[in-house]
Amino acid sequence: MYALVDGNNFYASCERLFRPELNGKPVVVLSNNDGCIISRSNEAKALGIKMGVPYFKVKELIEKEQVAVFSSNYTLYADISARLMNNLARFTPEVEVYSIDECFLRFKGMDSLETYAHQMRQSVIQNTGIPVSIGIAPTKTLAKLANKKAKKSESGVCVLESDEAIHEAVENFPIADLWGIGRAYQAKLELDYIFTAGQLRKQSEAWVKNKLTIQGLRMWHELWGRSCIPLKEVLERKQAICTSRSFGKLTNNLEELTEATSSYTSRLAEKLRADQSCATILNIQLLTNRFRKDLPQHNPCISLPLSHPVNNTTDLIKTAVRGLKSIYNPRYQYSKVAVIATGLIPEQEVQLHLFTEWNGPKNNSLSKLMDQLNRYYGSGTIRLASEGFKKRWAMKRENVSPSYTTDWEDVLKVG
Ligand SMILES: [Mg+2]
Repeated sequence: MYALVDGNNFYASCERLFRPELNGKPVVVLSNNDGCIISRSNEAKALGIKMGVPYFKVKELIEKEQVAVFSSNYTLYADISARLMNNLARFTPEVEVYSIDECFLRFKGMDSLETYAHQMRQSVIQNTGIPVSIGIAPTKTLAKLANKKAKKSESGVCVLESDEAIHEAVENFPIADLWGIGRAYQAKLELDYIFTAGQLRKQSEAWVKNKLTIQGLRMWHELWGRSCIPLKEVLERKQAICTSRSFGKLTNNLEELTEATSSYTSRLAEKLRADQSCATILNIQLLTNRFRKDLPQHNPCISLPLSHPVNNTTDLIKTAVRGLKSIYNPRYQYSKVAVIATGLIPEQEVQLHLFTEWNGPKNNSLSKLMDQLNRYYGSGTIRLASEGFKKRWAMKRENVSPSYTTDWEDVLKVG
C-alpha cells in the first residue's frame, strides 16, 4: 500500500507556526516579488481568494478582511519541510519525497493502516506543528486521489482498500484532478465525453493504449489498483541546477546586473556543492519583461563551457560575469537574470588537467569555508564583494517573516 502525505496549505501553515495568534484567521502567502497568491489558509479560501490570483487584484478585499499577508520565505519552508519528512521517515523505511510538502510512503504487509495513519498525523502535528492529510491506497495514483478525499474529510485520513471503496471514490472524481492529467490530456478526454476517473477506468485497455501514451496506460492500470509507478527512493541525479529571479524593478545598469548575476551565481554554487556536483557548462540568460508590450524585448542567452568542472563560487562568478558582459545591451530594460549550470558531474569524479595550471583546490577550500561560516552565522554573512552591498535590484519582499529556524538573529524571543 502507498500513502501520500501532504501538508495542508503548507506555506501558510509554516507562517502560522511562529504566529499562533493567526490560527483561525485568514492568511495568504505571495509568490516571488510579491506577485500572486500561492498559499491560502482555509479562512482565506472561504473569503473567495483564488489560488494564483495577482495580489493587486485582491488587495482591497485583503485589507478589508484583515488578511495576514506574507512574502514567500523559502528558507523557512525548506527547513520545516525537512523536519516534516524526517518525522515521516520514522514510520517506514520506504519514502519518496515528492515535493516540498508531499511525500509517498510504502507499507508492506501491514494491517490497520487507518489507525497507523492517524498516529502519523498526530505525530507530525505534535513534532512539527504542520497539519497534514493522508491518502492510502494500493497504487500511487489512487493514493493521490485518496489524499484529495482526505483533504475534504473531517479526519484528514482516507484509506481506499476494498474494491468497493476504490470504485466509489473513482466514480465521480473529476478527470482534471487526477494525478498526471495535464491540460492537453484533459481536453483530449473531454472530446470523448470522459469527465471522471470512473469513465476513464471503464474504457478498454486497447482504447486507452490507442488514445493515450504509455503514461496514460499506466494511469489506467493504477486506477484498477495495479501498481505500475514504483517508489523513487533515491532521487535521480539532477540534469541541471538553476537560480533565476526577477528583480524588484527594471534595470539597464550594468553594475546592478553584475551584482545580481554574481549573487545568483553564488546561490547556484551553494546548490551545486550541496548536491555534490560540478558544472561543466554555465548558461546565462537575461530577460526583459514580456508583459511590458510598450518596451523593446531582448532575451539573450549564452552557454559558456568551463575549462574545468567546478562548483566553487569564485570560478563560477568570474565566468558568469564574463558571460553577462558579452550579452548585455544597455538599450534594454531587464527584469530577470537566470544562471543555469548544466553538464553536471559528481564532485568525486572530476578529473584534473594534466597541462593547465588551475588554482581550483584553493578556490574550492575557500568556498567550503564560506559554506561553513554561512551555515553558522546565517546565509550571506560572508560573500564575494562582486555580489554588492545595496542590492537595489533585489526582489520585492515587503512582508517577509523572520527565518525563525535557520538564522540565530531571527530565533524567537520568549517573554
Ligand atoms: Mg499541500
